[in-house]
Amino acid sequence: MIFIDIYVILIGLLLGSFFNVVAIRLLNKKSIAFPPSHCPHCKHKLSVLDLVPVFSYVFLKGKCRYCQTKISPLYPFGELLTATSIFIVYKFVGLQLELIPALLLTVLLVISVLTDIRKQLILDVVTLPMLGVLIISHLFIGTEPFWYYLLGGVVGFALLLLIAIVSRGGMGGGDVKLYAAIGVALGPWMTVMSLVLASFVGTVIGVLLLALGIVKRKQPIAFGPFIFIGTLLAYLFGQDIWNWYINFLW
Ligand SMILES: [Zn+2]
Repeated sequence: MIFIDIYVILIGLLLGSFFNVVAIRLLNKKSIAFPPSHCPHCKHKLSVLDLVPVFSYVFLKGKCRYCQTKISPLYPFGELLTATSIFIVYKFVGLQLELIPALLLTVLLVISVLTDIRKQLILDVVTLPMLGVLIISHLFIGTEPFWYYLLGGVVGFALLLLIAIVSRGGMGGGDVKLYAAIGVALGPWMTVMSLVLASFVGTVIGVLLLALGIVKRKQPIAFGPFIFIGTLLAYLFGQDIWNWYINFLW
């Protein structure tokens, strides 16, 4: 089993490296396949050694090998985020059919975080195809009837649309569509919980960042990372969190 675990982590790191490229190139409206990876500063083509996830960043001390320009720490961050979340989802869901929609959701969340922290955007070119694939996957996979997942999508979409209207642009259209996809993956109840958890974590971290002076008042913070945390918590531990909450209240 330990070999499978290591294998999953390695695949996660490689996927993370690919998702970084996907996020950056989609944000810049460039092709994902061409040109081959290069340093954004000196344009030098990167060798296989420069592309080893996380390790190349550590060995090169965060600098381009050719021009010494600093490499953004968002690269190793994206690789670690992908590997960790895929590993956790694989561990908790296990090798069963449900792992397919679970991983689709994870990939969607990770890429959304990577585009959101770079340019505060969650892209339709990622969300809408994933929404479609998630709907199709639930035609065949799931413990609940198909309509349950569709209803989840409607609930996620409607809730975020409401928040977007009330907050007057505090929540963007990208978040609304992302929540439609999250809803399809989680079903209605856990979608609501994911939003509650995301808001709670977002508020706590937002207050902390303000108190520590890391961000300024009125400075917009990307909500994507909190959606990521809230959604994975609800998806993997929603029932436990609910039980704990009920016990806590009584
Ligand atoms: Zn360079």
